[in-house]
Amino acid sequence: PLVLGIETSCDETGIGLVRGHTLLADAVASSVEEHARFGGVVPEVASRAHLEAMVPTLERACETAGVRLADVDAVAVTAGPGLAGALLVGVAAAKALAIGLGRPLYGVNHLAAHVAVDTLEHGALPEPCLALLVSGGHSSLLRVDDVTAGVDPLGATIDDAAGEAFDKVARLLGLGFPGGPFVDRAAASGSSVAIQFPRGLSSRRDLERHRFDFSFSGLKTAVARWVEARERAGEPVPVADVAASFQEAVCDVLVRKSLDAATSQGIEDLLIGGGVAANSRLRAMAVERAEAAGVRVRVPRPGLCTDNGAMVAALGSEVVRRGRTPSDLDLPADSSLPVTDVLL
Ligand code: ATP
Ligand code: MG
Ligand code: FE
Repeated sequence: PLVLGIETSCDETGIGLVRGHTLLADAVASSVEEHARFGGVVPEVASRAHLEAMVPTLERACETAGVRLADVDAVAVTAGPGLAGALLVGVAAAKALAIGLGRPLYGVNHLAAHVAVDTLEHGALPEPCLALLVSGGHSSLLRVDDVTAGVDPLGATIDDAAGEAFDKVARLLGLGFPGGPFVDRAAASGSSVAIQFPRGLSSRRDLERHRFDFSFSGLKTAVARWVEARERAGEPVPVADVAASFQEAVCDVLVRKSLDAATSQGIEDLLIGGGVAANSRLRAMAVERAEAAGVRVRVPRPGLCTDNGAMVAALGSEVVRRGRTPSDLDLPADSSLPVTDVLL
């Protein structure tokens, strides 16, 4: 079956077309440039941009895939979590298409889609697997027994998300928005051992209560204090070293806790997804350390890690393949949809 996926949870309007595990088209229009001068995504601006981009992006996807809308067998859409107004645009478009084409509608979870997207690159998901989901709004460790129905959170951030930490540190270093790619690039010419930044929730005492949880707000503050002290002393800030040392602290905790969770659950496959999974150090470190721990790592290519429509189509394809019940046509958008609700 040919599955169309629609993603509008944040600032990317994404349309994906997938058949089985085969990606036929992944068209993305981003309003990121419009938000850059505000240093964060402005919800109203994002909603309007989705409205403007929806039809052209849909047309572009069909053209790339060489299919007509009439060929689509099922329509999947991100029903949450995300910005309410932005989600509504995608959900309304999906309903219109499902009704117009007379095809089933599937409202799916954006976070599970960040996991399912890996099928487009590496084939069927190993289940159970352990998923490290790290993005702009979330940082969680998930046990995935069935990506269409059984996602179980083992831990999550107790304050900032990993991507949020990258964005905040980028801002205080005077780098661009969103910060992740800029920190990644700056770090390439810096030393990861130049500055010893704290590893959140890693002390023996914290591990007792928060073994699989994350905390990045203390790290962000530590970076801010370090930079301030430099500036006060009238010394230049070694941006590359700060970026590399900060990035090392984030990746170190993410990888260590992921491998600990996998091992403790007796799971041999670690999957990393979400925008931060595009980070070059995280990818390299995970591969390096996983081998020693006897764990296999799967990370989709960077372009599939950040928000896109292909991930929604990938999860939709999985849901169709497993014969799940379609959503009602009065499907709501749920801005705070929990990760455990994969299909609405
Ligand atoms: P969520 O998925 O939680 O709803 P989101 O959809 O905004 O949030 P994604 O698009 O999945 O998030 O990820 C965006 C985040 O990923 C941003 O915080 C961005 O800085 C971060 N990011 C992107 N590329 C990189 C990179 N190379 N290194 C580190 N972080 C990155
Ligand atoms: Mg984005
Ligand atoms: Fe996302």
